[in-house]
Amino acid sequence: MSREIQIEAVHEALGRVKYPGFAADILSLGIVEEVAPTSEGYAVTIRHASEREEVMRTIAADIHRTLTHDLGIEKVELRAHRVEAELGEKTGRERLEGVKHIVAVGSGKGGVGKSTVAANLALALAELGLSVGLLDADIYGPSVPMMFGTGDAHPASVDRQHFKPIEKYGVKLISIGFFLGERAPVIWRGPMVMGAVRQFLKDTLWGPLDFLIVDLPPGTGDAQLTLAQQVALDGAVIVTTPQDVAVLDATRAVKMFRQVHCPILGVVENMSGFICPDCGERDDLFGLGGGERMASEEGVPMLARIPIQQEVRSAGDAGKPIVIAAPEHPASRAYLELARAIVARISA
Ligand code: ADP
Repeated sequence: MSREIQIEAVHEALGRVKYPGFAADILSLGIVEEVAPTSEGYAVTIRHASEREEVMRTIAADIHRTLTHDLGIEKVELRAHRVEAELGEKTGRERLEGVKHIVAVGSGKGGVGKSTVAANLALALAELGLSVGLLDADIYGPSVPMMFGTGDAHPASVDRQHFKPIEKYGVKLISIGFFLGERAPVIWRGPMVMGAVRQFLKDTLWGPLDFLIVDLPPGTGDAQLTLAQQVALDGAVIVTTPQDVAVLDATRAVKMFRQVHCPILGVVENMSGFICPDCGERDDLFGLGGGERMASEEGVPMLARIPIQQEVRSAGDAGKPIVIAAPEHPASRAYLELARAIVARISA
């Protein structure tokens, strides 16, 4: 009898329902809002997590099947909670022709290594044989030109509107830095940032891509929120350091992505322990395990821990990120693990 079925069993069953196209389940992605017993069974409230109706229909059907079929619950009532009022006006999210997955790399604050993670992640995905683009949307501090050593390369314009990305180390790159010169200071207002990023996204001739990595500006202000909302993101990776303050900011970033219904793929803890090159001992310069703690508190996976290593910085400064400069370096291996974890979480 359905009344005898414990709520724990229902939760456990919901944890087996995957978000369509993802390896992650709807519970850990925060899609399930409430589970409540009714007189004849259970009511499940889910967040209206996608603009695409077919996604919501698939989730609903999978929940229904799992609870009735696997658990034998007689009556399953599904309620969808639309949260888009929180978002203000509904905008047409940009889907890009030929681009399979768009993944954002974000952080609650600057300086935690977000751009370094975005660059090395893009390169590691390319190492896995995937076709990859990197959109440097960190308009306040574009770092792609320096990290990829593209010199004064400028994207060629095709028809005065569309332009070709710069290709380096097998990754297609676009950055505001290509248009401004590396050292020019950038002063933008929110709407200009959004306009520029939209244009980069749409007017770049990316060609077919398995992954487009978007290096978002740091922070959780309006610009980030709007960006995350306008780009049809398949998921977000949050970069933090193990320090308490950084973790607090990263938690804010997780909440921001949730607000725009973007699945959180997981957390990367960067600068997580220094491994002494001489003695091999580990020194936790920035504290220990903050990323992991936050990941478990927020119910999101911990994807990778990248050690703080001088070679990571010098490789980036020299225009040849560590994944290319020293593929066997422990940090490079950690980035490759990260790439694998992301591929595993997003099934093609
Ligand atoms: P953000 O994009 O978050 O502002 P960056 O990626 O620009 O941060 O990194 C800030 C600085 O820290 C850069 O000089 C970068 O080379 C360095 N850095 C990032 N990650 C590491 C690491 N794991 N080990 C050593 N230095 C790092």
